[in-house]
Amino acid sequence: MAGFRQLLRNTPEGLYCPPGDFHIDPVRPVPRAVITHGHSDHARSGHGAVLATPQTLAIMAARYGADFAARTEAANYGERVTRNAVDVTLVPAGHVLGSAQAVLRWKGITAVISGDYKRRRDPTCPLFEPVPCNLFVSEATFGLPVFRFPDASDEIAKLLKSVTLFPDRTHLVGAYALGKAQRIICLLREAGYAKTLYMHGAMDSMNALYQAHGVDLGPLAPATSAARNALPGEIVIAPPAAIADKWARRFADPIPAFASGWMMVRARARQRHVELPLVVSDHADWDELTETFTELKPEELWITHGSEEALLRWAALNQVSATALEIAGYEDEDE
Ligand SMILES: [Zn+2]
Ligand SMILES: [Zn+2]
Repeated sequence: MAGFRQLLRNTPEGLYCPPGDFHIDPVRPVPRAVITHGHSDHARSGHGAVLATPQTLAIMAARYGADFAARTEAANYGERVTRNAVDVTLVPAGHVLGSAQAVLRWKGITAVISGDYKRRRDPTCPLFEPVPCNLFVSEATFGLPVFRFPDASDEIAKLLKSVTLFPDRTHLVGAYALGKAQRIICLLREAGYAKTLYMHGAMDSMNALYQAHGVDLGPLAPATSAARNALPGEIVIAPPAAIADKWARRFADPIPAFASGWMMVRARARQRHVELPLVVSDHADWDELTETFTELKPEELWITHGSEEALLRWAALNQVSATALEIAGYEDEDE
């Protein structure tokens, strides 16, 4: 009987499927790639052919230009595409708009390459869909037991409370431009915040793309006012690098905030001069990771990019056969 090692293999370019002759999220240009989502460490330009969800293809085109690959093919969630003898299906990963797990089926074997994922509800993308499999490939960005994230809505409540307490100051929220920013905006809307939200220019193209894909962000305006003490009492969303930058000085006594799973680590918040850390992550925390492994019961687990060690120990204690994959080139754009 065929084994999953014939279906999927680790190569210097990234994960490779020999019977289908394609790579998944390759870190170097390859003839044929399946891309799980649009973050730059997973979605690179210069491949021959790219198979991805329509949203991910749109994100890649917005970031790299329409000629980011020689050929593209869009597959909607749940649609089955055949590559030689391998069936490829993209199913929701719950990470960002268009994010997918690549489900490979071949000779009775199922391998799931989950890309980046989380199990929590996200108003900007469908919920992670568990697929029973023989081989599960998991990220491990927050693969340590210390990472147990609070409810995102509680973190948003913290932000809104601070806005009420400091009506003369600008709240400057650092959030990555693809995914986190739009999730924060939607969470603020869900919490009843209907006012205009002010945006750093780096957010514009992804905000427009999300809106074009049916994600309602409510009233947005550019935060480009050059006047001193601009936008008191308002919320400004900017790339993390901008919140401690000269750019931030135009605002009224700004309170720097940062939305990231890393804000659980006090030293990281201090390093970035963050006064208001908001623990909102688009990655699975320790419980989400281990609960996913328990639910899927794969014969084999491959763990990649992040903290593999503790998860390997968890797998050994729980009689799951697990291996840490060494793939260089995933740089965690999104957190
Ligand atoms: Zn990602
Ligand atoms: Zn990743």
